[in-house]
Formats: sequence, C-alpha cells, structure tokens
Amino acid sequence: MEPKFKPSLVETKISSFWEASKIFASKVDAAKKPFSIVLPPPNANGSLHLGHALFVFEDVMIRYHLMIGDQVLWLYGTDHAGIETQFVFEKQLRKDGKSRFDFDRETLFKMIWEFVENSRGQMKTQLKRLGFGLDWSREKYTMDKEIVQIVYQTFQRLFEKGLVYRAEKLVNYCTRCGTSFSDFEVNYIERQDPLYFIKYGPFTIATVRPETKFRDTALAVNPKDKRYREFLGKKIKIAGLLGPITMTVIADEEVDPKFGTGIMKVTPAHDPHDFELGKRYGLPVTPIITKQGKMDFSWFLEEKNAAAKYRLRAEKYQGKKVAEARKLMVEDLKEDGLLVKTDESYSHRIGVCYRCASVIEPLPLTQWFIKIRPLADQAKKLVEQEKIKVYPKRFKRRLIQILDNFIDWNISRQIVWGIRIPAYFCQSTKQWFVSSCTAWCVIKKGKK
Ligand SMILES: [Zn+2]
Repeated sequence: MEPKFKPSLVETKISSFWEASKIFASKVDAAKKPFSIVLPPPNANGSLHLGHALFVFEDVMIRYHLMIGDQVLWLYGTDHAGIETQFVFEKQLRKDGKSRFDFDRETLFKMIWEFVENSRGQMKTQLKRLGFGLDWSREKYTMDKEIVQIVYQTFQRLFEKGLVYRAEKLVNYCTRCGTSFSDFEVNYIERQDPLYFIKYGPFTIATVRPETKFRDTALAVNPKDKRYREFLGKKIKIAGLLGPITMTVIADEEVDPKFGTGIMKVTPAHDPHDFELGKRYGLPVTPIITKQGKMDFSWFLEEKNAAAKYRLRAEKYQGKKVAEARKLMVEDLKEDGLLVKTDESYSHRIGVCYRCASVIEPLPLTQWFIKIRPLADQAKKLVEQEKIKVYPKRFKRRLIQILDNFIDWNISRQIVWGIRIPAYFCQSTKQWFVSSCTAWCVIKKGKK
C-alpha cells in the first residue's frame, strides 16, 4: 500500500467506472418513483469556482435516492451566460490591446462561441474529477439549437398571451458596460453628495443633479402644500444657465413637501419617479445624457438665435462626462447668482452597476418587457396552496414577499453574445430570459 493517498491513482479509476457502467445515466422506468434535479448550469465562460463545491448537496441527495431505489436524474448543463461571458471575453480582448468595437457583430459572436467551446470542456472535466453523479448523456447547453427554439416558442407564447410588450421606459443603464440591467442587477449604496439649492424663478429647488435641469419640463408641488397654492397651474419664468425658460407648476400627491424646499423639478428623461409623473401629465421625455454617459446639448446648439454667451456655455458642456459637466455648471450657477447654498452632508441611496460599480444612469430606452403580475400571482397561488412546496418552510413567506414585489421585467440587453429577441424591428437587442426558461427547456422538447 502507498504510504500517502494519491487521488490521481484512485479517483479517476472510480469515476471512469461510474461513467462506463452508466450508473447515473437515467433510464425511464415508470414503476419507480422519480427524483430529479436540474443542475443550476454553471456559466460556460471559464473554470469552476469554489462556490460550485455546493453542488455536493445535490450529489448527496441524488446518491441517497439512487440507493433507496428511486429513478434518479441529475441533469448536467452549461449556461452561455450572455452578459457575464461577454465581459470575461472583453477582458481577454483588452489584454491583447483590442476591444469589442474592433469587430463586427458576426465576427465577435463567432469568436465568443469558440472561446466558450474551449471553457465548456474544461468545466466538464473538472466536474467529473470532483466525482459528481451527473447524467452526462443528457447534456444541455443554453445555446443548443433545440433550447434556442424552445426559448423562441416561449417568447412567442408570452407574446400571444399579451405578456410581452415593447415600450419606452426609464431603465437602469450602465454607461460603462454599455447595457441596460434589470432591477435585480442593481446594487444600492448610501453615498454623500452635495445637495444644491438653486434659485428657480420665485422658488428655490434642491437637487443633487443640476446637470439634468436643462431638460426639466415642469415644476411639481404637493397639492396640500399651502406655500405654493397661488402658483398652481401658472406659467413661471425662470432664469437658467442657457437663458430664461418658462415652466408650469403642477400639483402631485407624490411630491414630498418635507424634501428640500417642497418644490420639485420634473425631469422625465432622467428620474424614474419623474418619468411616471410625466406620463400622468403628458410631459415630453427629452434626454440630455447619452448612452455613453455624456452630456448632449445638440438640441440647443442647433438653435440659430441663441445668445453668444449661452452658446459658449453649451459648447463647454457638450460631450463632457456627467460628473465633470456638473462641476462646470455649479461654477456657472455661482457666476449667475443662482446658487443659493450647498448642503455638503446630504446622504442618499444610489444604484450602482453590480459588475463595475459605476453609477447607474436611468435612461429612456425602448425595450422588451415581460408583464410579471399575472405570472407572479399565479406562482403565488401555487405556493400558497402548497402545490409548489418550499423547504425549509420559513422561506415560503419570503418567496411570497418576493413574488408580491415583482414589477415588469426588462429582458433586453445591448450585447452581442446571446439569443436574439425574435422580432424584426428589434434586431439590435438581445434578451436574457433564457435563464428563466431552464426548467421549462429540460422538460419540453422543441418542435422539429
Ligand atoms: Zn457596469
């Protein structure tokens, strides 16, 4: 006997024996009780990480049920992991001094495909070496033709049932990653930023984002706020950094009279609440920040009659990054005597990208959404009736809470690597809801 345990001598022999004798390759046997688990498919973009060791729990359950005579299936698969994979690939490109913009869509797609093909094999070997009792014979990959077809069919079904729609909404956009994200992919942090009190005609407004005020469309106050009652519905003339503007004062219950001065500028293109409020009052959505996170003053620079002073200012701001432009604007507000005061200790919650920690920019984009409420309500009913059982039991309440809070889901991503949304007028957008189709894909067979 060897004085030291040598895994290479023992383990490969045993796992090869398991594979050769097809112990874990499930055979359909109606007489036996079925027990199946779909392996949460690991991302096909590299090697396994330590977290994958948690598959051990599934392995234990599978082996237990196999030993008591159940018919078991632990289905192996890999996830193309659209955005994740594209980012890993882009990192590699950067190492070679290249970027994704050096290639056209088709070439880039092909390159990522090959990159993934290599890492997929690597991961499978690792899982085998770990001795997991997976059924390798039924391997699924989320980019398999058959899976793509099921995803398309699912999309079509949802569309026919009126559960998919395309609309312009304010979405979470990371200007660094160049894509929108769903609400689940945004992290929130508490941050201190200066709160600027700006003279706004006869009022003073408080804002952390003076750079968006060029596209304000209205002023809103709480209808119960006595201070502003006389101004309701009136048009007010306001001195701005690019010359005087006129704005209407509207009343809305949503305005918090205790925040700042109780009067709010409405910028539908850059704030989710303002967007909703703007929809209620039919206000236009006019963005001033681009998808690259830069200021866009082209709408002003196109105006031929603009005074030279204001034109110079707009030219100065044009194309600058948001934070940089903000500094310049604060200086100009001071120069014009429009900055009343600055509260340096204002703390607020902001959304940041879960990938690169950049500040998420709410931007108006036309995207595909899934109408979640009917689906979540149905799922909730099944959980409540215990047709879907939750273990441990205390998580049932939490699951119901999550289902209760679901809002419509943005499934569009502006990436190359993934399955295209099957709609002609939306060629440039990629969708991401493949992940949510996993369970459906493994039980359903695509139409030939
Ligand atoms: Zn990002």
